[in-house]
Amino acid sequence: MRSALALMLGVVVLASAIAGGWYVVGAVRGDVAIPQFVAARQPQPAANPPTKLAAKDDVEITGAIGSKPATKIAAADPPPVPAPAPIADKACANPDALGVSRVVEIDTTGGPGFGFQHFKQFDFLTDKEVVLTFDDGPWPGNTPAVLKALDDECTKGLFFSIGKHATFHPEILRQVLAAGHTIGAHTWSHVNLNGKKMTEQMDKDEIEKGFSAVKWALGTEPSPFFRFPELQHNPAMVTYLGTRNVAMFSCDIDSHDYKHDSTPEKVVSTVMGELAKQGKGIILMHDFQKRTAEALPTLLKQLKAGGYKVVQIKAKGSFQTLPDYDEAFAREMKLPTTTAKPISSVVQTVMSK
Ligand SMILES: [Zn+2]
Repeated sequence: MRSALALMLGVVVLASAIAGGWYVVGAVRGDVAIPQFVAARQPQPAANPPTKLAAKDDVEITGAIGSKPATKIAAADPPPVPAPAPIADKACANPDALGVSRVVEIDTTGGPGFGFQHFKQFDFLTDKEVVLTFDDGPWPGNTPAVLKALDDECTKGLFFSIGKHATFHPEILRQVLAAGHTIGAHTWSHVNLNGKKMTEQMDKDEIEKGFSAVKWALGTEPSPFFRFPELQHNPAMVTYLGTRNVAMFSCDIDSHDYKHDSTPEKVVSTVMGELAKQGKGIILMHDFQKRTAEALPTLLKQLKAGGYKVVQIKAKGSFQTLPDYDEAFAREMKLPTTTAKPISSVVQTVMSK
């Protein structure tokens, strides 16, 4: 409701405030190789392996995702044209829709954190209010199904895209934006930023490159919202994100939809069960997951039936990417490692016996 804008929560925090409320979960991660992005930022483009992005999924997606992309990025593809402006709220065709009860605008100055699993400073939801969040997309099939379910209920979500997935499927991420949802970032390759092999520079690269990739895919700046992969809140990066004026989102209710034994039914029962206990909260789901896409129509109906109301999250400003990362990323995307040319224009027989 437009009138609900009057209720918007303006959140301003000092950088020092980020010290409150979070804790660090013990690091558990595999040996994930990180692209040599630092090298790419130095004036030695030749140092880049020519097959970097196009080579394939050279960075293993962590267990929270569980499977590898089915497609590779085609480095020869041109960057998307600038995205269309998000569609303004259109009339809702569903009279019984869940809808959006309140729109909250967040001032991300200083890097506030949200979600009581890690950040307890800002308790901005009232009883029965929920925030729908979706991680790890964009992904063919599943993300569009999530978008349809949200659209059928005239409601809005907050999406945390993996940078790499954004480069695989920029057109899907642009659909998310065009549908009026909010898009933040979730690192470049979904590594655990608390991982033992990660340096502070590698962590920063994961964050910045993730944002630059999402910006590239969208053709416009994403919201300055971030979620740590596996909710692994690296203390130095919490501080760093504060200096970058990025709000961090943990969660209140984990749908556990990434678990291999999860099902659409379990996703619904887990979320509704936790809501019955907690009464409100930021709900963590994954538009990457098929079971979540399948569960969402039922879940949204049960939220409505249970008297829950969706709060839409927006940012007061947009994320300002760092030029070094944008340029390095653009260089990587243009590396001539794949081509759309027909073979006859590439390989010609000039002599045969
Ligand atoms: Zn994730």
